[in-house]
Formats: sequence, C-alpha cells, structure tokens
Amino acid sequence: MPQIRVAVAGAGIAGLAFAAALRRTGIDCHIYEQAGRLAEVGAGVQVAPNATRLLRRLGLRERLRAVAVAPQAIEMRRWDDGTLLQRTPLGGPCRRRFGAPYYTLHRADLHSSLLSLIPPDRVHLGARCVAITQDADAARLHLSDGTTVTADLVVGADGIHSIVREQLVADQPRYSGQTIYRGLVPAERVPYLLTEPRVQLWFGPDQHCVCYPVSSGRQVSFGATVAASDWREESWSARGDVAELAAAYAGWHADVARLIGAAETVSRWALHDRESVDRLSSGRVTVIGDAAHPMLPFQAQGANQAIEDAVVLAVCLAEAGPDGLGAALRRYERIRLPRTSQIQRRSRDNAKTFHLADGDAQRRRDTAAQTSSGLDRHQWLFGYDAEQAATTSRSS
Ligand SMILES: Cc1cc2nc3c(=O)[nH]c(=O)nc-3n(C[C@H](O)[C@H](O)[C@H](O)COP(=O)(O)OP(=O)(O)OC[C@H]3O[C@@H](n4cnc5c(N)ncnc54)[C@H](O)[C@@H]3O)c2cc1C
Repeated sequence: MPQIRVAVAGAGIAGLAFAAALRRTGIDCHIYEQAGRLAEVGAGVQVAPNATRLLRRLGLRERLRAVAVAPQAIEMRRWDDGTLLQRTPLGGPCRRRFGAPYYTLHRADLHSSLLSLIPPDRVHLGARCVAITQDADAARLHLSDGTTVTADLVVGADGIHSIVREQLVADQPRYSGQTIYRGLVPAERVPYLLTEPRVQLWFGPDQHCVCYPVSSGRQVSFGATVAASDWREESWSARGDVAELAAAYAGWHADVARLIGAAETVSRWALHDRESVDRLSSGRVTVIGDAAHPMLPFQAQGANQAIEDAVVLAVCLAEAGPDGLGAALRRYERIRLPRTSQIQRRSRDNAKTFHLADGDAQRRRDTAAQTSSGLDRHQWLFGYDAEQAATTSRSS
C-alpha cells in the first residue's frame, strides 16, 4: 500500500512530537526547520500527566525520569507576606490518580528527548518555509532557498507566527499587555526553595511569579510577569534587565526578591495569543501546537496541548490510510478543537485572576482557592487521555 507523504514545518515540541507519534504508527515524515541548528534555549516547562502519559508511550519513560523533577505540590501564595492560598498535591497522589507523573523540566531536555526518537536525516535544518500552495493532488511547502517540497499533507508546527496557519485564517497574534522575564538559577543559590521540590506561585496586583526545579534538581527555573505597553519581542534569547525586574518586584515577599537577586541573566518575552479558530485544516494542510492554538502560559498547557495534538493527528492519519485524508483531518479537528479552545480561554481568564489588585475580588479568589485544593478540579485536564479519545472516536 502506498504511504502518505507528510511534510512538517517546524521542529519545536509540536513538530517533533508529531513526527515521533507518526513514526510509531509506521508512517514516515520529513521536518523542515528554519533554525540552522537546534540549540539549547529557553528555561523550564511544566508537563502534566495529560502529556507525560503520551510521552511515556512514545518511549521516553526512562529518558524523562533521568532529567525531570517530579514536584510534590503546586503552592499558591500571596505576593507580600507569602501566605499559603492553596496547595495542590502532586507526587505520588497525582501519579496514582492519573497513572502518569507531573514533571518540571528544562525545555531543552524535553526537546532533545523528542529529537532522539527521530532519525537525523528526517530533520532538515536551515529550511525556512515561506509559502504553502496546494491543489487537489498535492500540497507544496516552498522554502526560502527556492526549493519546493511536495507532499500529500503539510502539517504546520511552525509556532505562533505560523506561515502555514495563513491557509486557514487571516488573523494576527494579540499582545496580552504582559511580558515575562525568565531565568535559571543554580539550586545551591536558593536552597530555601528546595526543601521539597515544588511549583510555587506568588500572586499580586498586575503580576505574578512562578518557579520550580528543573535539570534533575540542579537548577530552578522562574518566570515573573511584568505588565508593559512598549515591549513586543518574543524570543527565548531576548535579554532582559535583572535590575529592572527586581525593581518591578520591590516590596514582594523575601523569597521572590532573593530568587530574582540570585539570577545573573534573564530573558524577556512579550506574551501573545490568538483567538480560537473554528477549523484546523484546509484541503491538504493542517496545523498543530502553537500554530493551531497559541495560548498564554498561565495554565502551563501550550506544550502539553501540542503533544496531545501530535498523538491525535497521528492516530487519525494512521487509521484512515492514504485515501482517507479528508476524513482523518475532520476527525482530528473534531477531537481537538473543543478542548484546545477551552484551554486557550481559561489561560486568558487566569491572566485576570492571577493579577487581581488587593480588594474584594482578590479576597473571593483566595477564599475559593483555600477551599478547593485537591486534584479533583484537575481531573478534566490531567485525567484526559488524548490517544484514547482518538481511538474511541473511531466509531462516532
Ligand atoms: C514564558 C512561557 C512559558 C511557558 N510555559 C509552559 C509550560 O510550563 N507548559 C507548557 O505546556 N507550555 C508552556 N509554554 C508554551 C509552550 O512553550 C508552547 O506552547 C510550545 O513551545 C509550542 O510548541 P510548538 O512546537 O507548537 O511551537 P514553537 O515552540 O514555537 O516551535 C515552532 C518551531 O517552528 C520553527 N519555525 C517557525 N517558523 C518556521 C518557518 N516559517 N519555517 C520552518 N520552521 C519554522 C521554529 O524555529 C520552531 O523551532 C510556555 C510559553 C511561554 C512563552
């Protein structure tokens, strides 16, 4: 039986996870990545059971265990006096309930783990996609060096500024008004944060700070938002100013001040998202990850959702065969859109609730947080098995 030819734009988490998931079904694909080399960039990423269960099935159980940290809890605190507002247990209770761990890890460790699943000759570097064309027989990915790749299906995994998405909708990223400073601090400089491995958040007026251990506990990754109307850069390597960040967090709890003070360098990133779309495919072209549903990182789910997309699309394509491409893409869209739209929306909502000024609304938020600290409220998010959703949708 002839195999479907698949070309993927972008070797980020979505593109690599998709290639790995597709290979597991026996279908080959080629990835075209604009970067000349896949460098170690970024800081930490939280990967919840809804994605770790999929990564383990892709064959990364041991590899992730070696580099990740399994935090024991997520703790939310007040910005000034550090009062504990909510503690959600993770660790053993989370693993037992959801059958997979909650991990915090360095982005580069997640990326290189996924890359290890793909033969090097399937990843084409320095290959920037500048346009997509398609007709009834094929889709074409046009690269900046003038070459054209012809495939049965083009998958856009090219991030929030996706070229491939232009096939579906003429929209633009929306600036949230928030920037985020990110940094990595050697663990020995902040031992008071590591008495127990935890995800810790401090909520305050207009901004919040989050931190957690990564790299097997050798480093602490942090992200601290600062509202700004004049910053538009989105790059893991755009330099921020530690002194400016420290000034923005003046008066915050000593743990936050000491954490920021321990950073030698920080990056600064303007946070964008887009409106949800009502379709994910057009003809022989589809999108996954941030190209499909870029979201604010206030639920820590963008990469998790990219991994879910990857697995679902792979299952749909494998089960449809070469003649069933249209039906496979419709099925992928039907499974993914409701979930990713909901998570995009909730991530935006969190931007408001995390940053409430002290007052009535903040007190209501804190009371609600203190009375709902279990894992129950994460069932819909962490308990979701995207692969099972895909296989059981077969008959619907
Ligand atoms: C501050 C911050 C914190 C976050 N924290 C979390 C978290 O804790 N948990 C979580 O799940 N998510 C988190 N996210 C979201 C997560 O980082 C993204 O959702 C995820 O990286 C999306 O992966 P992607 O592969 O779709 O896109 P990207 O990571 O953007 O990758 C796109 C790839 O495509 C390439 N590319 C782009 N254009 C082209 C082109 N024209 N031709 C060829 N290649 C191209 C790029 O070079 C890149 O390699 C966070 C995001 C931010 C900004």
